[in-house]
Amino acid sequence: MPVTKDFIRQTLSAVRLPGAEQNLVDSGALRWVSYCDGFASIRLFTPQISEAKARRGLSAGCFQALKARSEGEGEPIGQLTVEFVDGAGEVLETVTLGGIDRATERRNDEGKEATESGSGATSGHTPIGGLDQSSSGLAGVRHVIAVGAGKGGVGKSMVAVNLAVGLARKGHAVGLMDGDIYGPSLPTMLRLDALEQNVLQGKLQPYLVHGIKAITIGKLVDPEKPLIWRGPMAHGAFKQLTEQTSWGELDYLVIDLPPGTGDVPLTMAQTLKLTGAVIVCTPQKVAQDDAARAVRMFQQLKVEVLGVIENMSFFVGDDGKVYDIFGRGGAQQMAQRMNLPFLGQIPITTSLRENSDAGDPSANFAEGEGHGDGPDSRGALARALGEVVSNVEKQVALAGIRQGHDRPTLRVS
Ligand code: ADP
Repeated sequence: MPVTKDFIRQTLSAVRLPGAEQNLVDSGALRWVSYCDGFASIRLFTPQISEAKARRGLSAGCFQALKARSEGEGEPIGQLTVEFVDGAGEVLETVTLGGIDRATERRNDEGKEATESGSGATSGHTPIGGLDQSSSGLAGVRHVIAVGAGKGGVGKSMVAVNLAVGLARKGHAVGLMDGDIYGPSLPTMLRLDALEQNVLQGKLQPYLVHGIKAITIGKLVDPEKPLIWRGPMAHGAFKQLTEQTSWGELDYLVIDLPPGTGDVPLTMAQTLKLTGAVIVCTPQKVAQDDAARAVRMFQQLKVEVLGVIENMSFFVGDDGKVYDIFGRGGAQQMAQRMNLPFLGQIPITTSLRENSDAGDPSANFAEGEGHGDGPDSRGALARALGEVVSNVEKQVALAGIRQGHDRPTLRVS
């Protein structure tokens, strides 16, 4: 029998509810099941169990039963998350077994070995493969950059994708994570629909597309269903995506955040050491006000704001003619008012929208006849994106030095 939600329900119908004659299913304790690629989550309503120890015991029993039976099917469940809920469905306690814990332990062990063998680690910093693990909180990842916005629809995901692809085109090793778990855009913007999500040794394997490594929750859930995450679930989903992906060594991990000031940025700031955040804003006053709130949120979370990108600054027709639609320069003025670096303006162009919908961001950077340097809209777009990417690169370097995990370099030419 393939490992599905029904498989999980059936397996748990053999697990007895402590203190009762019935099993978890017949007693009505099992309230909800979800399963994807070796990761199972269940919700239990067990008013008769109030002790944390007993809850953990029951969770371990469930995991053991699921693990044993799924291994027999050749599709082992590597991680189980059990949420204990009250009668109204509020989560009282979350117990996670397998997966993250093992991965974290393994990483800690690796770190310990490296430190004990005296591999140059000082003050608790553990360089792995030449990169400093502690600079980002993820082994092998040097800089984590979040892309945030105060409002939806301002082009935040578009910026995250093009920033990642642009940095990769400059020779950097780049990962891109769709942290916008409520409305993941990467499946479309990178045309991932025909690709399968692979899992190797309990780790999600990122998609290798357009020279970057990308991961999205959008490939782990039903694309037609609305994603309604409760706080702890959003926290868990974000943590799983970051910590359970085989990123390998990266110069930059770009994270596309949900718009606004919700749970995910908080989880991110608690879990990762970010080099900084980039704010995307359109020129209008209403967008500026929301972006200013997002800036203050990052500042409160002690995440450095690397600067502001103004998207949809102006419209460039295919003939190269420029139209000022939303009041070009509005986001730039906001950046000035808030004493933040301004990272550049991106015009509205038909080709950018088309390339995003077709999942072909590389085309935005394409050079050659009628592209790249020409006076047409594609030329303007490629130049604008190039400038934004360079400015972010510079601000990240400066922030790295300020934060003390990069050293200044002197180039003589
Ligand atoms: P957000 O992540 O802020 O919700 P998206 O990046 O998903 O916004 O952008 C919303 C839509 O607008 C997408 O279809 C995207 O391709 C398009 N879009 C964003 N910026 C531009 C632009 N400068 N020119 C043309 N289309 C754009």
